[in-house]
Amino acid sequence: MMPIDFPVEDDSPDRSDVLSGVVPDRPDKPEEACGVFAVYAPGESAAKLTYFGLYALQHRGQESAGIATFTGNQVHLHKEMGLVSQVFNETILNELPGELAIGHTRYSTTGSSRVVNAQPAVVDTRLGPLALAHNGNLVNTPELREELLQNNHNLVTTTDSELIAFAIAEEVNSGKSWLEGAISAFHRCHGAFSLAIGTPEGIIGTRDPNGIRPLVIGTLPPANSADPLRYVLASETCGLDIIGAEYLRDVEPGELVWITAEGLASFHWITQPQPKLCIFEMIYFARPDSVMNSESLYTYRMRIGRILATESPVEADIVIAVPDSGVPAAIGYSQASGIPYAEGLIKNRYVGRTFIQPTQVMRESGIRMKLNPLKDVLAGRRVVLVDDSIVRGTTSRKIVKALRDAGAIEVHMRISSPPVTHPCFYGIDTDSQDHLIAATKSVQEIAAQIEVDSLSYLSWEGMLQATQENPEHFCSACFTGDYPVGIPEPLKRSKLMLETKRPALETVTPV
Ligand code: SF4
Repeated sequence: MMPIDFPVEDDSPDRSDVLSGVVPDRPDKPEEACGVFAVYAPGESAAKLTYFGLYALQHRGQESAGIATFTGNQVHLHKEMGLVSQVFNETILNELPGELAIGHTRYSTTGSSRVVNAQPAVVDTRLGPLALAHNGNLVNTPELREELLQNNHNLVTTTDSELIAFAIAEEVNSGKSWLEGAISAFHRCHGAFSLAIGTPEGIIGTRDPNGIRPLVIGTLPPANSADPLRYVLASETCGLDIIGAEYLRDVEPGELVWITAEGLASFHWITQPQPKLCIFEMIYFARPDSVMNSESLYTYRMRIGRILATESPVEADIVIAVPDSGVPAAIGYSQASGIPYAEGLIKNRYVGRTFIQPTQVMRESGIRMKLNPLKDVLAGRRVVLVDDSIVRGTTSRKIVKALRDAGAIEVHMRISSPPVTHPCFYGIDTDSQDHLIAATKSVQEIAAQIEVDSLSYLSWEGMLQATQENPEHFCSACFTGDYPVGIPEPLKRSKLMLETKRPALETVTPV
């Protein structure tokens, strides 16, 4: 059976096209912006622990990676374009001494794809250097940039992350301590920011007042039993698991944690935080083995599959997933409907992981993701195809055609999230609104375009019900347009359609 090529518009983007300097097609799935990791681990190589932490967080950014370590007032930095396994080797890690490290994996949502924009961002202050790793996006970047330029800062990158680092330096250089300076700078930032900041004295971790992007705290046992615990920060719990760290708790929205030789101290720099965790982290971005809201995302995604089956039943012979991200919801759909689950599409997991210096020929093959339909499973069957989202719809159409070519007699698509109608301004790379298929087309029109026999989305209520949390505690703006942090007009105009072309919002509409 010949593999069928699909563009890299699925859940596992290969950013080697970016490395080659060729502008790729826009992906058909939103892409996560960054992963951050930090560790203070006396008696261990902090750089090596950080390497493995970043390795587990690779799905959060595949464009560049970096680690900064501290020995006293000296910072040691290595960052490059590429995957974590390409950027670091044993020799490089041995040249990053110290017990305190900050790490970052990046996919650019602000600033271009150049090594100068890779993180951690390192800036000097009167108290010594700081190294900052950021996940999220500020919405007041132009204003903050203008303020800093007026104060004669020598900005060298085009990222909002560097602006936060310079804002902290500015506050510290005005006579404040690390903590006072950081808190003053955080108040100047609006938008999404989960940060890990290394200093010669310790690590600062924080989340914006809405906690839009995740950040968790873990512990490692001390090297000697009389010593205090050693602390780790990571975007997701999978970054803790890989180094054997125990999950302690989330960094709370508007909280600052200060990790030093004395242990961990906590400060709240906002009196009334309003939690708004990005719901797309739960539906799709974060790894299924990561834990959020006290359960694995695998369990959450199975539950949304069960709700989807209840909301949108259909007569069919098998349930299959678009691998890998659609798998848990497809299993949940199968459990609730009683329709057997089968593997109908096999993904070549190693595509996009073999590049070092892509040539044109390599790039052309590398920007295709190979999914191989299993003819034996599909031929003569009525198929329920479960995916986590449709953004532009181009990949869905190709997959549906591949299933029919393999002999499927009916294809009923079920999406385990509501229609994506609005772009993200908080650190996820979505297309502008006019390119989002659900922003301009009805469910029936989308079904016709991707050529399925029926199409249904999870309802917004169903998605929130599945969280088993207060629905007010989530950002779901890409489904509703209800942005928790106000978007300034010029930024709005850059991505939002001036007039809505979308038909009235349907929740679930089997065709
Ligand atoms: S707009 Fe969407 S992708 Fe962005 S933070 Fe909110 S829910 Fe997440």
